[in-house]
Amino acid sequence: MPGQCAAQASGEGLAAMVKPSPISPTVDFDRNGVQHGFLRLPYSRDDSAWGSVMIPVCVVRNGQGPAALLTGGNHGDEYEGPLALYDLARTLDPKDVSGTVIIVPAMNYPAFRAGTRTSPIDKGNMNRAFPGRPDGTVTEKITDYFQRELLPRADIVFDFHSGGRTLDFVPFCAAHILPDKGQEGKAFAAVEAFSAPFSVKMLEIDAVGMYDTAAEEMGKVFVTTELGGGGTSRAETVRIARRGIMNVLRHEGIVKGSVDKHSTRWLDMPSGDCFAFAEEDGMIETMVDLGEAVEAGAVIARIHSTGRTGQAPQEIRAKMSGLLAARHFPGLVKAGDCVSVVAVE
Ligand SMILES: [Zn+2]
Repeated sequence: MPGQCAAQASGEGLAAMVKPSPISPTVDFDRNGVQHGFLRLPYSRDDSAWGSVMIPVCVVRNGQGPAALLTGGNHGDEYEGPLALYDLARTLDPKDVSGTVIIVPAMNYPAFRAGTRTSPIDKGNMNRAFPGRPDGTVTEKITDYFQRELLPRADIVFDFHSGGRTLDFVPFCAAHILPDKGQEGKAFAAVEAFSAPFSVKMLEIDAVGMYDTAAEEMGKVFVTTELGGGGTSRAETVRIARRGIMNVLRHEGIVKGSVDKHSTRWLDMPSGDCFAFAEEDGMIETMVDLGEAVEAGAVIARIHSTGRTGQAPQEIRAKMSGLLAARHFPGLVKAGDCVSVVAVE
């Protein structure tokens, strides 16, 4: 039923102007059992005249009940989510489910295939492209489908992230501080159930166009993660992802069984002072490792200019006391790059 939700939301007059999504699912979201299929998006190009982008999707449904929408690969170079979700799609038994689980392990599939944060087709950053357009770029067509077709079906939305090639994080699950305290409370309860080593009350640098914002504005419970980074995954972070997503589904009553609870340390990002940015290009020397305590004013990193010898490094200092929650990953840094994030316990 492409376009139906938008038509309902925007009234008769406007509905006539809203184009249907070009994406057709090969699964039926209302059918019981397990279905493995695709969100098929026509994409005509040099090597395939009438070709399509085939985004894998799995639906596991067993009768009436709450619906979870689980996504990974929103950014194409983050792997804990796809590893956990391809695994879940292969193993989840509908007998253990009450309600619906929709799994899209690699949301920005062109970016995932290329191993890049953004789409190689249009350079689209999926997490800045909401609400999207049915007649926009490939990335915008995918976000439009999530906005109008998938998000309205969900009660809880879980979106996996890690740092990608350029950032590395202490493993955490997170939700946002929200004006609706009921919605916020449900999200933080799900974060606690996920049982990552760290749990974060998150502040965004740039919330416009995010999947998070789109889901929260629809009143959905939205939970996310940052589980490492560097453009790869680690055994520990993949274990956290697999255990955590089952915990959240059990906590929501969608999957049978009790939550496998592990202790978590709550972190806050109280203001923009959490973030530090490079002001020049160079070679970065981290002075503090992830998870270590830092005092306000302490040097977290030094940026060495490499064009000539004899230059003093630029010092990056912590603007607040806390622990190092994220850092720039590659050895070289450019002006404007996010160098570090300090969070408060
Ligand atoms: Zn990401």
